[in-house]
Formats: sequence, C-alpha cells, structure tokens
Amino acid sequence: MSAIDDLPPLREVIATHGLSARKALGQNFLLDLNLTSKIARAAGDLTGSDVLEIGPGPGGLTRGLLAEGARRVLAVEKDARCLPALEEIAAAYPGRLDVVNEDALELDVTARLNAPIKIVANLPYNVGTELLTRWLDPGHWPPFWESLTLMFQREVAERIVAQPGSKAYGRLAILSQWRSDARIVMSLPPEAFTPPPKVRSAVVHVTALETPRFPADAAILQRVVAAAFNQRRKMLRASLKGLASDIEERLVSVGIAPTDRAETVSLEEFCALARTFER
Ligand code: SAM
Repeated sequence: MSAIDDLPPLREVIATHGLSARKALGQNFLLDLNLTSKIARAAGDLTGSDVLEIGPGPGGLTRGLLAEGARRVLAVEKDARCLPALEEIAAAYPGRLDVVNEDALELDVTARLNAPIKIVANLPYNVGTELLTRWLDPGHWPPFWESLTLMFQREVAERIVAQPGSKAYGRLAILSQWRSDARIVMSLPPEAFTPPPKVRSAVVHVTALETPRFPADAAILQRVVAAAFNQRRKMLRASLKGLASDIEERLVSVGIAPTDRAETVSLEEFCALARTFER
C-alpha cells in the first residue's frame, strides 16, 4: 500500500510485471508517488477535467492524477508490457481510467475526450518536442486542450519559456508564447528518475490563451520565424531575403533594424513582420 492509494509501491509493481526500463522508449520512471502527486497538482484543479496522459508506463503519474481527483484519465502507452499494471490502477479507480495501447504520434484522441481537457505527461524525450509542437499548432485556435503540464529535459523547458536576447530563444519560444502562457513550475534532478537520465528535467505548465497575444497568420508567422532562426547568426536582411525582395523596407516599416539578428526580435515584432505578408 502506498501513501496516496491502496495499490502497491511502484518498485513492487515494476518487479511484479518485469518492467525493466527500455531506453528506446525513453523510459525514465518516476517512482515517488508524492512527487507524481505534486506534478498532478501543478496542473491545477483536475476534478472537473478529462486528462490526457501520454506514456503512463508503470503508472506513477497516472496514480497521482487519479488521487488528485481527475474526472477521467485517458492514458496512451506504446509499451504493451505496462498494460497489466495499468489495468490494476483502472480497477482501483472504476470508470475513471482508460488505457490505449498505441503510439501517441499515430493517434488522434480528441474524439475520446470531453472538455475541459488538460494534458499532463512525463513525456518520452524522443517524442516530447514533436508532440508539444503539434499541440501548440493544431490548425485552429483555441485548441482542444486547456493546459499542458509536461516534463522535458531542462534545456527544452528553457527554450519554451526563453525571452529575446538569450541563446535559448528561438522557434519553440515563439510558438509557445504566441498563443499561450508558459512557465517552468518544477525542476528535477536526474536522481528523481529510475533509471536516472544524463540531464536535469523540468515541468512546464502551458495555458492556452483564448486568442493570440498579437494578431498574425499562423503559417506566415512560422515561415518568417523559421527563416530568421535557421540562420540565427546572420543579420535579418540576409536571413530573410528569400521571403521578399523588399525585406529591408518591411523590416524598417515595423521598427526592426535590418542589421538585427533573430534572437533580439520580440514576439510582437515577429507578428508585425508576419502581418506585412498578409497585405
Ligand atoms: N509516466 C511514467 C512515469 O512518469 O514514470 C513513464 C514516463 S517515461 C519518461 C515515458 C513513457 O512513454 C514510457 O512508459 C514509454 O513506454 C512511453 N512511450 C514512449 N514512446 C511513446 C509513444 N510514441 N506513444 C506512447 N507512449 C510512448
């Protein structure tokens, strides 16, 4: 029995079901249920929400989410070895946990969830950024989710919340902050995981805004930002010259010096520049 529920401790679950961690699946498990409950609480009040969890593994975070009162959890796990352990959790929380044995990159789960929806996950590092990018750029806004509470490598978390002028500032910061609020809410050392990864980790909490912070067409903004940061050491008049022959005039018209580099341009300025391509 553990501190948060009547289920066995996670070390016992892992031993019973033979869940030795597989590197190829990004398996670094959280075994401290007080910690997983704390991560669940960082997602806010769960009692009236459906929660999408990617990669439940042996179910430490899943148990935290359920113990913290999530209305329902839909857990998507690629590794079939974890299913018996997850079935035990489902039995302990009748009607509140559904487990899908699929690759989260291949699956559209939106039809299986009811609003409001929060996404909470200790993401596998190899697919974390890809999933985040998809959630932040869903093709329509507001998105199907209300908030994201996600574990990343600390370096990725820093790129999400980065401000102009820093090395970490780039495409991910613009994408994350244009239509959302993003902040780091927890920092974790490698020893918090079994096995420990090589690097520190951090939990990022992202809340979707109703409307973008500054108006812009999503596809145009992405194109401008991608061109600017693909050659981030170059001056903008050079890195963006492929976008328009009059790029210098456009930059000046929105108050950006053509000799500036991408990492000094604010989100508001990138949006203003993107709007010059809508006219
Ligand atoms: N949530 C558990 C925890 O906190 O202890 C496990 C986290 S572990 C970092 C990542 C989990 O994601 C593993 O259980 C792994 O099998 C699963 N996973 C990896 N790739 C996946 C994918 N493409 N779709 C769904 N699950 C995946």
